[in-house]
Amino acid sequence: MSIKENLAEIKDKISKAEAKAGRTPDSVKLMAVSKFHTLEEVQEAVNCGQLLFGENRIQEAEKKFSALYEQNPDKNIELHIIGQLQTNKVKSAVKIASCIESVDRYSLLEEIEKQCSKIDKVINILFEIHTGEESKSGFTSEEELIKALSACETGIFPHICPKGFMTMAPFTEDEKLIRKSFTTLRELATKLQKQFNKLDLSELSMGMSGDFVLAIDEGSTLVRIGTSIFGQRDYTNK
Ligand SMILES: *Cc1c(COP(=O)(O)O)cnc(C)c1O
Repeated sequence: MSIKENLAEIKDKISKAEAKAGRTPDSVKLMAVSKFHTLEEVQEAVNCGQLLFGENRIQEAEKKFSALYEQNPDKNIELHIIGQLQTNKVKSAVKIASCIESVDRYSLLEEIEKQCSKIDKVINILFEIHTGEESKSGFTSEEELIKALSACETGIFPHICPKGFMTMAPFTEDEKLIRKSFTTLRELATKLQKQFNKLDLSELSMGMSGDFVLAIDEGSTLVRIGTSIFGQRDYTNK
């Protein structure tokens, strides 16, 4: 199957999942996760009209996307960072991305603010939440998360625009556990939106190739799909 056919198939499945869940058509955005795939493959996806991408490693993303932006000056290509972000990579990350989805600690906000203020850029962020037993990443302390949201609401990070939350479900075949992880994120988001009503925290980034239908049923607004678009990743390559 080609990238073009895969994209068409995924979009069709998203539409069906939206309808089945009683969701508004086009309420779920599709991100193509291009980590470990080549510039040529990403360009092919762009040629099919796909403009939103996700990468988790900064060095790889920098190489690929600086070339991609240059190759497509008239297209509004967007890159979200979805992998754990080391503090010393923030400077590079904010240059190439429109959103950092993997904000998992308070100190990362301080560094993002510092680096964005230097280049006079306002960047979107999502708070990554730890919702599953097996996944390691994301805020685990609600206290620290509240501190982060409070700081954003009071306006001490003028170059940061919070948009909502992201999570990864545990890697398991157990649908109940996967769904529980998505429900946890949705309920937490609802609660925190009430508490921090000056912020717009409506984005819920959840669902990958294996579980996006469940995620849409639980309220996802953004699904992150790699394998079902680009095929298996070749980890020996890099
Ligand atoms: C790799 C990755 C994805 C995509 O996973 P697939 O199973 O290939 O669709 C989604 N989200 C995050 C955070 C990832 O690291």
